[in-house]
Amino acid sequence: MAGPWRILVSDRLAESGMTILQQGAEVILDDPSALGTVDAWIVRSRTRVDGPSLDAATPRLRVVGRAGVGVDNIDLEAARREKVVVVSAPEASTIAVAELTLALMLALARQIPASDAALRRGEWPKGKLEGTELHGKTLGLVGIGRIGRAVAERAAALGMAVIAYDPYLAEAMIRASGAQPAQLDALLAASDYVSLHLPLTDETRHIIGPEVIARMKRGARLICAARGGLIDEPALLAALEEQRLAGAALDVFQHEPPGENPLLRHPHVVATPHLGAQTAEAQARVSLDIASEVLAALRGDPLRWRVV
Ligand code: NAD
Repeated sequence: MAGPWRILVSDRLAESGMTILQQGAEVILDDPSALGTVDAWIVRSRTRVDGPSLDAATPRLRVVGRAGVGVDNIDLEAARREKVVVVSAPEASTIAVAELTLALMLALARQIPASDAALRRGEWPKGKLEGTELHGKTLGLVGIGRIGRAVAERAAALGMAVIAYDPYLAEAMIRASGAQPAQLDALLAASDYVSLHLPLTDETRHIIGPEVIARMKRGARLICAARGGLIDEPALLAALEEQRLAGAALDVFQHEPPGENPLLRHPHVVATPHLGAQTAEAQARVSLDIASEVLAALRGDPLRWRVV
């Protein structure tokens, strides 16, 4: 039964959360013209919640729900100014992104996409496709929050040594997830694989630029299933072309979809279309988590994942 609230859902949500929303409110699907007449607005990463759209949505809008982790598509300052509560669902996709990170590392180490493509072309290039093992290699994590910790635990099970740089976490917290704390320079010099698990902010944009890449171990591989803007893509391409880096695996891009990005044509790049959270389990979890959090915010109940 529809309740007193109207909720705009801009990007597709799995059935589990839609059912809860529809029991407590009138739900409007993907109709930007409804802004201004709704009490809550649920988005994923595709929809930008910027100053002008918040202006148009208030004073009625009270809650923005981000179905996922990163809130870099939401103007948090404008939300604060307009007194709009922002909530997210930060725990739902942790396992899915951690498992994709492992899959990308293994795909790089064993050249799985190239092997698959060769077989489909009718070739049998067994001798040209020698891989390397993850066992005994060093994995450097830049950022070791929820996803970084889940990656650390899984990589340790594969016999990797895990080190991590996270200036905002106590060293004891880093050690508790089975990783050795390290400064960024030491991590770059020691790691065979560097994997990024930090948020995109003004401070971290293009954190992996030419100088940082130059300090990476020769022949290392870079993995990013965090946010595209973290990497200076032309600098990465240059390092791959000069064979200073042996490979890169990217789930996220500066512009999405990336279109004619030359990184996608490089033979040592493995790419996926922002699949981090795209598992059936994570989608069901994220939908449930954000639906219950947004309804709690509308009711004035205590919140688990308030961002603003
Ligand atoms: P989190 O907030 O739990 O962890 C992020 C960690 O990064 C924190 O421990 C923080 O201290 C650290 N950090 C911040 N600035 C840093 C810096 N300058 N250097 C090093 N560390 C820094 O977040 P999470 O849930 O682990 O998510 C990590 C990333 O994964 C985010 O960028 C998120 O947007 C992204 N993500 C991607 C997908 C996908 O589909 N590929 C899905 C979910 C999350």
